Amino acid sequence: MSGVSFVAGCGLGGLNTWGCGGSCRWLASPKNASEATMFIKKAADEGTGLYILGGGSNILVQDGFIDAGVISSRAMDALEVHAEKGGARIEASAGVPVKKLLALSLDKGLTGMEFLTGIPGTLGGALFGNAGAAGCSFAPIVEWVDTVSFDGVSRRWRSEDLVWKYRTCPWNGERLMITRASLRPGSGSREEITGNIRRFSALKKGQPIGAKTAGCVFKNPAGDSAGRLLDLCGCKKLRVGAAKVSESHANFIENSGGASAADIYALAEMCRKRVYEEHGIVLEYEIKFFGAF
Ligand SMILES: Cc1cc2nc3c(=O)[nH]c(=O)nc-3n(C[C@H](O)[C@H](O)[C@H](O)COP(=O)(O)OP(=O)(O)OC[C@H]3O[C@@H](n4cnc5c(N)ncnc54)[C@H](O)[C@@H]3O)c2cc1C
Repeated sequence: MSGVSFVAGCGLGGLNTWGCGGSCRWLASPKNASEATMFIKKAADEGTGLYILGGGSNILVQDGFIDAGVISSRAMDALEVHAEKGGARIEASAGVPVKKLLALSLDKGLTGMEFLTGIPGTLGGALFGNAGAAGCSFAPIVEWVDTVSFDGVSRRWRSEDLVWKYRTCPWNGERLMITRASLRPGSGSREEITGNIRRFSALKKGQPIGAKTAGCVFKNPAGDSAGRLLDLCGCKKLRVGAAKVSESHANFIENSGGASAADIYALAEMCRKRVYEEHGIVLEYEIKFFGAF
């Protein structure tokens, strides 16, 4: 427990990629699963809410005060790579940045993680939301995932215990923190891996690079693209305060400077309403919410 970071009344605006939102009751940054379990139990004892924060690249944090504890996984960054015949076994803690895993692909000649090209955040966040691109995600290479439930129970899940669906939490809404996972990428040639990275990188063309966003706001509805529907409804022209729909990709909302979470939410709801009114489709949020909206 020595050296664990704990801050009472902590601002969350600097800890998410939209750069907005208010503060929480406390923010803890444990370094391992047992320290994390202690804070999970603290939140349960206090009877307040609890949120788990990874890289903050897919969340909208409420303005003002959130009466909840937040556990950040960022200090849980242990990473071990064991070479094996035909690939490797990687054991990584939840806070390992996925960029590090992508770098390992090139460094060690490992295939199966190239879909992470251009995706920010942590391993825990990516597993929780089943992040991916072009139908690829961690699902085929996950061996097991360790979690601690919000009532303090630890469990190891084998990949086959989990339901891997497009941008859907494999735990079916269960309240838990991912602490560690084992991945088994295969081995690949440098040409194969760089070719895949180039292919995933090309998919990012047209997305607003460098702007303050949280990635795609909405999931793609079956057989269609949320960005296409939003564009058809003229959403690219919409803004609320300093929140504006990206001119390059209608499924991204940019904080163009000083937007509040309320601005971003109002704009997202305005877009959602337009798509429903013009196409009869209810877009489902891909982003997750901290606090009340
Ligand atoms: C420029 C940009 C491009 C993006 N491109 C893509 C893309 O191509 N594909 C894609 O899928 N996403 C994309 N995203 C969205 C985002 O990067 C991913 O969803 C990412 O995996 C979120 O990880 P994170 O660590 O930032 O999670 P956070 O944003 O911190 O959290 C997201 C959710 O996961 C939960 N969570 C985080 N860590 C844990 C944990 N250890 N245990 C339990 N729950 C946890 C949080 O409570 C929250 O509900 C993009 C985002 C940006 C800003």
